[in-house]
This record gives sequence, structure tokens and C-alpha cells, in this order.
Amino acid sequence: MSVLMIFVDGLGLGDDNPAKNPLVTAPMPNLRGLLGGAPLARTVIPGDGQPYEGDVATLVAVDSCLGVPGLPQSATGQTTMLSGVNAAAMLGRHLSGLPTPTLVDILRRHSLFKQLVEAGRRATFANPFTPEYFEAVNSGRWRHSATTTAVLSAGLPVRMLADLQAGRAVFHDVTGETLRERGYDVALVSPREAGRRLARLAREHDFVLFEHFLTDKAGHAQDWESARHWLGVLDEFLGGVLDAVDLDRTLVMLISDHGNVEDLSVRTHTQNPVPALLIGRGRAQAAAGLASLVDVTPVILALLAGEGGTACG
Ligand SMILES: [Zn+2]
Repeated sequence: MSVLMIFVDGLGLGDDNPAKNPLVTAPMPNLRGLLGGAPLARTVIPGDGQPYEGDVATLVAVDSCLGVPGLPQSATGQTTMLSGVNAAAMLGRHLSGLPTPTLVDILRRHSLFKQLVEAGRRATFANPFTPEYFEAVNSGRWRHSATTTAVLSAGLPVRMLADLQAGRAVFHDVTGETLRERGYDVALVSPREAGRRLARLAREHDFVLFEHFLTDKAGHAQDWESARHWLGVLDEFLGGVLDAVDLDRTLVMLISDHGNVEDLSVRTHTQNPVPALLIGRGRAQAAAGLASLVDVTPVILALLAGEGGTACG
């Protein structure tokens, strides 16, 4: 089997309140279709804390607070999610932005990608990079995110713009529109087609990660227009994934590191649980194992263990 992880930064399960939560008003027919017509909000989850079980999708509320006071943050949340080590507890606090040496060390030792490669699995990061990105890192002007560190810790190659142009990568904004705004001569990709491309990568690998973070940016800016735009793009993107993915062999897992965009009444992250939306093979097993971000890596490893890997070629 394979796992296709769609990581959406800053997307919590908030209230079904159109005055605060853009997920209630954004055009999201694909997600609503998976949730019995309801918006992706905490009200979908039954009151007893059990997951929502639909015909096609299971929705679990996942804790992002990790037993540490304060607002959950990206560096610790992503490190935890992609290593199975509670990075916030190790640091004694939630850390925003880019990982510190302690977090980099956790990822270098325990990265999900590294563990998968060591187990003989084919893992890949679907997002392409620009040459300028690596120039900035190499000159000390920028540092790798937790996600990128997790990928590089496995010694895996990353995708570049040439892969995007060849249809073998999906830019973090899904469509490439922000790349074009930055002056890159790349073709726009419809969200639907981008989803189909991601599904194709899932056929060729045991584990594929895609990362989107403009939801978190929209949340910090309390920007309703931007939030609604990116949520709509993500919904069509998910529709494209579901058009093309083989759900008999692939688990689609949409998950986040902490809440933010689901409550535009504040400019900070939230302590809301995050969604783990599970579609396809093994969704019941995954749902049973996911209580907090620290469970993500072990759940994925358990799903892929004992299963035959993807055939070569
Ligand atoms: Zn943030």
C-alpha cells in the first residue's frame, strides 16, 4: 500500500461559525461531500470523541498541544509529526518558525523519511524547490524547515522546478500562481490537475508528502479573501487527488500541525485539535492510532510495515 500525506499548515478544527471560520463559508464542495455536507469543523466529530465515520472518509480530531502549555507552533509540531518524538516536550516549549539544532538532531535521527528509506520503502516529497532556495540556504540567509530537514535527513533527492514543468511535482501553492507572481516562467496548473499529479506520485511510491502553508499565512494576516481562496484551491486539489488515486491501495491523509486559519478572530495559532482526514486503504487502522501529532509517524510506519512495497519501475 501507499500513504499520501497532504500536510496543510495552520488548519484546525474550529467552530461552525461563519463569523470566525472561513471553512464554513469557503467553497469546499469536495470536503463537504466527504463529511455529509458539513464544513470541516469540530461539529462533525461526535460528542463522545470518537472519529466521524463517513462512507468514504474518516475524520479524527488530533491533539497538537502535546502536553506543553502555550500555543502550538510549526517547528515543534512538524518535527513531532515527522519523527514520532514529542519535540515540544523535549524543548519544554512550542517553537515557531524554523527548527533549532535540537530539533534538527531529532529529525536527523528519527525522520519518518529516514525510517522509511531504511525499511526499504520508496518515499518522496512532492514539493519542488527553486535554485534560489538552495542558494539562500547555502549562503546562510535561510535555513531548512522541519519538513525539508526530514526529507534531506533520509538522503533523498528533492524535486526542482524542472520536475514541476514535467508534471512530476506540485508546488506548495498547488497551482504555481505565486511562482509566476515572483517572475518564474512556469505554466499555471489547475488545482484539479495538480491533485491528479499528486495521485500519480502515490502510485510510484510508498509514501508521498505534500506541504501547503499559505493557509497559515492567511490566518496570521486574518485575511478572509486569501483564506477563502487557498481553502477553495485545496478543496479542488483534494478533488483532483480523489479523481485519480487508487483508494484500494492508497491511504490519503490530510493533516495539520496546529490550528490557525479556522479562527480569523485572532492572528495567532489556536489550541484547537487538528483534522486527520483519512480516505482509502487502512483508514480505520490509522484512525484508531491517531490521538496526537506524536502518533503520525508510528501510524504510517505501522501501516506500511508488513505490506509489500511498491513494485520497482
Ligand atoms: Zn504560523
